[in-house]
Amino acid sequence: MNTRQNDFDVIIVGGGLVGASLALALTDAGRRVALLEGQPARFDGLEQGWDARVYAVSPANRRFLESLGAWPGMERIGTIASMDVRGDRGGRIEFAASDAGAEALAWIAENRWMLAALWRQLEQRDITLLAGVRPVALATSARQARLTLDDGREFTAALLVGADGANSWVRNQIGLDASVKPYGQSGVVANFDCERPHGNIARQWFLGDGILAWLPMAGQRMSMVWSTAEPQALLELDAETLAETVAATGDYALGALQVITPAVAFPLRLIRPESTVKERVVLVGDAAHTVHPLAGQGVNLGFQDAATLAALLRDRRDPGDWLLLRRFARERKEAVATMQTTCDALFALFHQHELPGLPWLRNAGLSLTNRLTPLKRQFARHAIGF
Ligand SMILES: Cc1cc2nc3c(=O)[nH]c(=O)nc-3n(C[C@H](O)[C@H](O)[C@H](O)COP(=O)(O)OP(=O)(O)OC[C@H]3O[C@@H](n4cnc5c(N)ncnc54)[C@H](O)[C@@H]3O)c2cc1C
Repeated sequence: MNTRQNDFDVIIVGGGLVGASLALALTDAGRRVALLEGQPARFDGLEQGWDARVYAVSPANRRFLESLGAWPGMERIGTIASMDVRGDRGGRIEFAASDAGAEALAWIAENRWMLAALWRQLEQRDITLLAGVRPVALATSARQARLTLDDGREFTAALLVGADGANSWVRNQIGLDASVKPYGQSGVVANFDCERPHGNIARQWFLGDGILAWLPMAGQRMSMVWSTAEPQALLELDAETLAETVAATGDYALGALQVITPAVAFPLRLIRPESTVKERVVLVGDAAHTVHPLAGQGVNLGFQDAATLAALLRDRRDPGDWLLLRRFARERKEAVATMQTTCDALFALFHQHELPGLPWLRNAGLSLTNRLTPLKRQFARHAIGF
């Protein structure tokens, strides 16, 4: 039998950005929450050094994190006031937050700093934090989900949330198949000091065989995301050659560069589970979807999953009610599918070499769009997440 101590409204598996933000939002909505994270507790020493993994956080998600008291201090936040996107044959589009009457298209925040801000808030809330343990079994019935940990403890909840990333254990346990489409590329990330100020401009180059993005960080620094089929060729470069290669590929737009964090690579895949809900279980964040990072929207989709789910569960007697879960799935499906399809189509458009005329067409398209103010305004509004 379960004691009340081991029984929750919601158990969340995975204390990354999405799971941690959901735990805070649900607790603030009056829910009894347990958060299970396989790694040791996340709040010690996270803010040391620079993190090569950065996110472009949309204004809507900044507001969400602020509402949780978990927006990291602005001293380490970069601002994207405008974007400058170049095609592989001279095409170009520039658009600015001011096109949509906004202050910023997005803010650039480091993964570790956001995690630290979230976990510091978790410590201050009445949340059961189970860190450094792993789940070994998950069973569901019409009334509850039951989770067994590797140390033998058992917990039950009306709802179990899988926020455990792209290789979700929860997704596997409940038998949800996911179609996984590898892009045949990895994202190589690294941070650089720049010789010239970035002017709060995010720069992106479609290179024909890859996509290079430079995101403005706080101060005179930028974060690179280079999506490439040959990550090893970049990872093997010494710091000086890497800096020179990145600077040259970006036409020295920010002058000479100096490496701050060594390059790391992560594989790019499009993951689509057959469903994001099952009896007493829901998936959020990368467990529910991944997208190509060319639009920098991966974690934004995850934060919106968390915000939507917390809002839906507020004031509901049974947080695991099937109709509620179905409603959540419906509400998120369209936003996620639109982002996945857009990123996928853009990726295909700029990696298609067989069709004669396509390289010209895609570059002409960018330049034409650049001259059409209403369409640009639309781009800016889309980037902001209106
Ligand atoms: C090396 C790397 C670099 C990246 N860089 C970028 C980038 O520059 N820009 C970008 O937009 N995206 C990047 N991504 C993708 C981005 O990290 C994800 O979109 C985002 O982190 C999703 O957040 P999440 O909370 O859903 O999942 P995750 O961040 O994956 O968090 C999942 C959490 O669940 C925990 N967990 C997993 N399994 C279990 C289990 N069985 N039991 C308990 N806990 C478990 C993990 O320890 C982790 O804390 C990168 C990914 C990687 C791997």
